[in-house]
Amino acid sequence: MKELVIISGKGGTGKTSITAAFAGLAKHAVLADCDVDAADLHLVMAPKVVQQESFIGGKVAEIDPRRCSQCGQCLQVCRFDAITVDFRIQPIACEGCGVCVWNCPEKAIDFNPRKSGDWFISKTRFGTMVHAKLGIAEENSGKLVTKVRKQAREVAEKQKAEFLLVDGPPGIGCPVIAAIGGADHALIVTEPSRSAIHDMKRTIELCNHFKIPMTVCINRADINKELTGSIEIFCQDNGIVVAGKIPYDSALTKAQIAGKTITEFDNGPLQDLFVQLWQSLSARIQVKEPINQEA
Ligand code: SF4
Ligand code: SF4
Repeated sequence: MKELVIISGKGGTGKTSITAAFAGLAKHAVLADCDVDAADLHLVMAPKVVQQESFIGGKVAEIDPRRCSQCGQCLQVCRFDAITVDFRIQPIACEGCGVCVWNCPEKAIDFNPRKSGDWFISKTRFGTMVHAKLGIAEENSGKLVTKVRKQAREVAEKQKAEFLLVDGPPGIGCPVIAAIGGADHALIVTEPSRSAIHDMKRTIELCNHFKIPMTVCINRADINKELTGSIEIFCQDNGIVVAGKIPYDSALTKAQIAGKTITEFDNGPLQDLFVQLWQSLSARIQVKEPINQEA
């Protein structure tokens, strides 16, 4: 089983549409939606949940008024202003650091597991998908990404799937690190805009740091040919293959609105482009490549 993580650095580059297209093109893949802060792969995959589990992301403090002597110690030590003047803890503001718990002379503060969301194993028309929903105002998405990915790996190994396709989170922070570590290959989806190129370069640095072989794909490549050219030159100079250049086409958005992958929605040149991209990428994933350390 080979694990491909699709990432972008910048959000909104079309990463999820590309992941969905690959799901339809791969012979036997398991899907993982690790973009847990803004999960939208389910819009195209229409998953039918077969297993739902709570995600415990940390702990939350709670004052028991019967034991509290109102000494005020907890108010002084909480750096997150999570405790009100009448000694109640606001769960949304509590970061679960535990400092108040350790400082309470009356042992009046309970420190309970905090449910931060749910994760699911679902059936889709393209195979099994593992995904999650983070609770409102909840963080800890790096931990939830790790959970989703671990579950998806277990399913993929059990099913002897050929590929695990991971729709990664945007950015270069903790969630994306949780999504790429130990993967077989990363597809970096970018577009010809200065912010996307900046983020692509940082994502490349991250992949190099974690020694993940990578390929670049340029979405909406025709909206700024000069910047597309500069992406190609940068990749060439750094030994990174640009496996696909996808032109701007409103069909990608229309397909997502219709709940279809682009290859289900469009049977013209765009479909051919995605087929070629998948063929070239899946062939590259099978090959163990040396990692370029210079980018
Ligand atoms: S430190 Fe403990 S006893 Fe003092 S106000 Fe806070 S909860 Fe109450
Ligand atoms: S656990 Fe930390 S953040 Fe939460 S109330 Fe106590 S001191 Fe504040």
